[in-house]
Amino acid sequence: MSSERKVRVRFAPSPTGGLHLGGVRTALFNYLYARKHQGDFILRVEDTDQTRFVAGAEEYINECLAWCGLVPDESPIKGGAFGPYRQSERKPSYRQFAEQLIENGRAYYAFDTAEELDEQRKEQPNFRYSHENRLKLRNSLSLSKEDTQVLLSKGTPHTIRIKVPTDETVSFTDMIRGQVSFETNLIDDKVLLKADGMPTYHLAVVVDDKAMEISHVFRGEEWLPSAPVHILLWEYLGWNEQMPQWAHLPLILKPDGNGKLSKRDGDRLGFPVYAMNWKDAQAEKETIGFREMGFLPEAFVNMLGVLGWNDGTEQELFSLQELIEKFSVERISKAGAKFDFEKAKWFNHEWIKKTSNEALLPQIREVLTSHQVTNVADDYIVQVLGAVKERLTFVSDFWEQASFFFVRPENYDLGAVKPKWSAEKTTFFNHVNLEFGKFDSWDAVALESFFKGAIQESGMKMGELMMPFRIMLVGGKFGPDVFQIVSLLGKEEVVARVNKALIAFTAE
Ligand code: GLU
Repeated sequence: MSSERKVRVRFAPSPTGGLHLGGVRTALFNYLYARKHQGDFILRVEDTDQTRFVAGAEEYINECLAWCGLVPDESPIKGGAFGPYRQSERKPSYRQFAEQLIENGRAYYAFDTAEELDEQRKEQPNFRYSHENRLKLRNSLSLSKEDTQVLLSKGTPHTIRIKVPTDETVSFTDMIRGQVSFETNLIDDKVLLKADGMPTYHLAVVVDDKAMEISHVFRGEEWLPSAPVHILLWEYLGWNEQMPQWAHLPLILKPDGNGKLSKRDGDRLGFPVYAMNWKDAQAEKETIGFREMGFLPEAFVNMLGVLGWNDGTEQELFSLQELIEKFSVERISKAGAKFDFEKAKWFNHEWIKKTSNEALLPQIREVLTSHQVTNVADDYIVQVLGAVKERLTFVSDFWEQASFFFVRPENYDLGAVKPKWSAEKTTFFNHVNLEFGKFDSWDAVALESFFKGAIQESGMKMGELMMPFRIMLVGGKFGPDVFQIVSLLGKEEVVARVNKALIAFTAE
């Protein structure tokens, strides 16, 4: 392969349901490699298995890539010079290659019906359609030329299978794993063309990678066992020179490291596995996604970028742009990467802190609207956000942390106040509230020094009065600095809250 070859990579999902985070990581690594090398990032929808067609799945993939900022240069909706980008629309192009393989003795027609094959499987639990028994089955290798012709001319349903060679080794250099070898005796004669004329994944992926001039294939490790079949096809079709370089990405493992992370693990352990909500039409059940759970796309992408890759330093926070700059295949690990939801949340928390208050405003507004708070100025929201941002893991936490900035508390943590309440404290708060009313400029520093001075004069202790004051404003023992709250709430609101709370604190 010439070193000048233009980098062209593809993300090739099958539109069969929600997109697993491992799928998005595959898209991301393809994208990073393309951007790093001024190449093209292509979305190809692998929809040849019509029995698995799921309405809405392709739109979901588009939306998901857009949300993550991984916008393809060529795709079914965007088009491009190498289309169509939906495999089902390429159907007519595949048969000729399957036929070419038959002519060259590299593939054969198989007439076995599904029932006949089921029968075989019943008789031999380890049945494989392969070199050991292909001559005992109904195909153009076991039948005479004439019989085969008769069956074909009668339109007998058939598949086309690859004839995997006996006693050979298929070797290739994987960009991540180095030299990888497979014994052909252990490989089945995979179906290339199905009875409905559709190619299987194996044929389609090779034909399309060739047609789309794909230079590098980054895909999940689960496809490694298929690689030798693909490599044989590249060779048998005479395309060796154009074969892409392979890179099989490490698996994403369950949190305990025991096996591949599946959707069921998410359900079981209570975290999302899909990028966005996915509603299964049959099951009528919606599965929560990272987006809807409240993850920022920057955090989601950052978290995926370091699942199986690092830049060799301790750095963990990377923007998409930084990932592009720093990405290197050499630093992708061979070992599976454990998924850690607590860590994912940490990324989100960090990204909320990194994102400007103004940029978060639309999402914060959504949170407020969902709690019927609509009539507030942007500027106020931005300031409140600044005060509580450090405490947010998800944007939706904003309500729990900051609702008291928008609605006067209804209930108070009376247990923390009443047992130690005294007439002296009532007098104190009546006094400071009166003084608050006289303040001309509502300034946090001035208010704080006035309040602390008043405590000193009263002879009571700081904590005895600060804590009830906080509860008057907030309802509970939480929230940012009391005087930051005081200054944001404004004079009238503070005075009203103190009065309201005094009634509750002193009630019998
Ligand atoms: N269609 C395969 C999938 O669903 C693509 C595998 C590949 O990239 O070759 O992941």
